[in-house]
Amino acid sequence: MSEILKYPLQYVKGVGPRLAELFSRKDVETVGDAFQFLPRTYEDRRTFTPIVKLKPGLKQTSLGKISSLRVIPLRNRKLKILECVVSDQSGSISLKWFRYHAPTMRKMLKSGCSLIFTGEVQEFRWQKQIVHPDFEIVEEDEHKDLLHFGRIVPIYSETGGLYQKTIRRVLKTIVENYSDKLEDPLPEVIRNKHALISLKEAYQEIHFPHEDVNIEDLLRGESEARRRLIFDEFFFLELGLALKKSQIKSQKTYAFVVLTSFLENFSKKLPFKLTGAQFKVLDEIIKDLVQEKPMNRLVQGDVGSGKTVVSMGAALLAFQNGFQVAIMAPTEILAHQHFLSFEKILSRFDKKIGLSMRFLVSALGAKEKKAVYREIEQGVARIIIGTHALIQEDLTFQKLGLVVVDEQHRFGVDQRKALSSKGQEPHVLVMTATPIPRTLALTAYGELDVSVIDEMPQGRKPIQTHVLLEKQKDKLYRKMGEELSKGRQIYYIYPLIEESEKIDLKDATEGAKNLKNIFSSYQVELLHGKMNQNEKDKTMEEFKKGKIHILVSTTVVEVGVDVPNATLMVVEHAERFGLSQLHQLRGRVGRSDLESYCYLLSSLKNWDEEKNAVKRLKIMEETTNGFLISEEDLKIRGPGEFLGTRQAGFVSFRVADLLRDHELLKLARREAFYLIYEDPRLEKEEHHLLKETFEKLWSHKFKYATIG
Ligand code: ADP
Ligand code: MG
Repeated sequence: MSEILKYPLQYVKGVGPRLAELFSRKDVETVGDAFQFLPRTYEDRRTFTPIVKLKPGLKQTSLGKISSLRVIPLRNRKLKILECVVSDQSGSISLKWFRYHAPTMRKMLKSGCSLIFTGEVQEFRWQKQIVHPDFEIVEEDEHKDLLHFGRIVPIYSETGGLYQKTIRRVLKTIVENYSDKLEDPLPEVIRNKHALISLKEAYQEIHFPHEDVNIEDLLRGESEARRRLIFDEFFFLELGLALKKSQIKSQKTYAFVVLTSFLENFSKKLPFKLTGAQFKVLDEIIKDLVQEKPMNRLVQGDVGSGKTVVSMGAALLAFQNGFQVAIMAPTEILAHQHFLSFEKILSRFDKKIGLSMRFLVSALGAKEKKAVYREIEQGVARIIIGTHALIQEDLTFQKLGLVVVDEQHRFGVDQRKALSSKGQEPHVLVMTATPIPRTLALTAYGELDVSVIDEMPQGRKPIQTHVLLEKQKDKLYRKMGEELSKGRQIYYIYPLIEESEKIDLKDATEGAKNLKNIFSSYQVELLHGKMNQNEKDKTMEEFKKGKIHILVSTTVVEVGVDVPNATLMVVEHAERFGLSQLHQLRGRVGRSDLESYCYLLSSLKNWDEEKNAVKRLKIMEETTNGFLISEEDLKIRGPGEFLGTRQAGFVSFRVADLLRDHELLKLARREAFYLIYEDPRLEKEEHHLLKETFEKLWSHKFKYATIG
């Protein structure tokens, strides 16, 4: 790392302790930080417009001589305006200040002296004026080497007491005095290959762009300098992911023994025929499991694509090889559903499996939990399905060989690690139904191998989706009546926002009461997060068995729940949900060959109100493709929100923008992975600086990464 980057800002010429303190409020403490304190935008002040050509409504720069200066008192006497008329050969304009420090201004502004000024031109009483212009006094002909004018000037984000001109001046000093000392950590080969400018040039250019750049490009964020900095940002991230991946690969674990006939036998005994995609993905998993290095695979598949059965195949193999399997799901309802369906399916292969399965959630009584713990420790329990309870510190496994994390996006990386650390480098399978835009997948899950189930089980019909307003509810009730009379079941969802759980619960409770009145000959029940495990299980069981016809619920059923006879999903206040979440919810229906429907109720009063919200919901009417929906969501809500805070660290970039720059991401990723392939521990001489820079970055941003 260039030593100079650590140099405290305070000791830079012209800074001092007071200014340094102001900069530190912006997290700028060192010369290196200052380089990275990038302009928010730029202003084109290259050309001076003759005064007569200044156009009201535009932000323009001009140059002239002060022809008069006066103070105009306003009627209430408290406020005075300072007016300064400036003229050139073409005309004159008045510059006005409503708030000003009189002595300083009078000292600066003298009749006859030349002034450069910038600001938004206005028309006032047939006269052109600029209020509070940015200005500078200049000697004749001096405007060649100006900082704030006669160039494209950077605009930084200001903070109390720290203003544009000061920031610009400090940055100028830093760029001029220190950029020569910047060493470039990016190997020359890579730079040359992708025509990337040097780090030094990049910082010079990003702060003080050349006179001949295209300002439109610059404002859009398209410049050589930005390209280089974006590349770096992606490259160092991907380098870390590549490194992690290579470390995982070099670990050793037990290879499973798998008969060549396994896959065929497995699919033969299932109650349905595996789709081609399921077959392919299970095959990929088996190829991982027979290796001595641990599997680290992400299975992505849209809701209803049938991921569970794939993990059952893997679990069966672990069982047959004498290992324990831990399957972690984000909610108790889902964990319990898995527990029942694993037992049902896997018993077809081995009667003994049922006896060795255990259910572990935090709601278990102390005594029961203790017993389960013991059985897990002693290896009596072999297939353990549960929630976060599986990662409790005092739980130990006898011989954990496979870890499955369902709905992985609900967990953090740390939790995945915590679970796998309970075995000796077990194989890890993570599954997610949130289709992640590819660009995001590369960064958030970059160290995993990815399999995609890109095919739905046969006979599935696209779910018909309708956005409805509150006042159109009669339409909805008609539809509900129709489905119920056909013997189908209905989910009726209310949003739940954590901070006001009580109010929302009231909403759902009243909703349930109302529905009971309307559909009095049917069974309507309420399910919510505050119920205890037994109550939840009981309600869910009854819904599964068809004893409950309408399940009114908060979003606890969002993930994973599987009741094929349910064909109608209603979501109240749909505009409060993200599209991906709605897609998840909608995925609770359409799980068989029955025609299914989803009604999204918007509580907005009419279509005009909050057009965007409705436009957003309309996307749900148009497509059932989870990938398209997630791309839309990403555009609307940004990546941080999309992945949840747990993984936001991966996608908070300074300069890069995942959507805009995904081409560059791919390049950076390829180079990073190749570099790690060539030099897995970054030991080569020419990678010395790279390694140092990388280590500093990662220890900062991604705590858990280490080299070697
Ligand atoms: P998800 O991918 O959303 O987790 P599930 O694994 O819960 O989906 O499967 C959805 C439903 O489809 C379940 O009822 C499951 O039994 C059923 N299913 C899975 N694979 C097939 C298949 N190949 N043919 C028919 N039904 C299937
Ligand atoms: Mg699932």
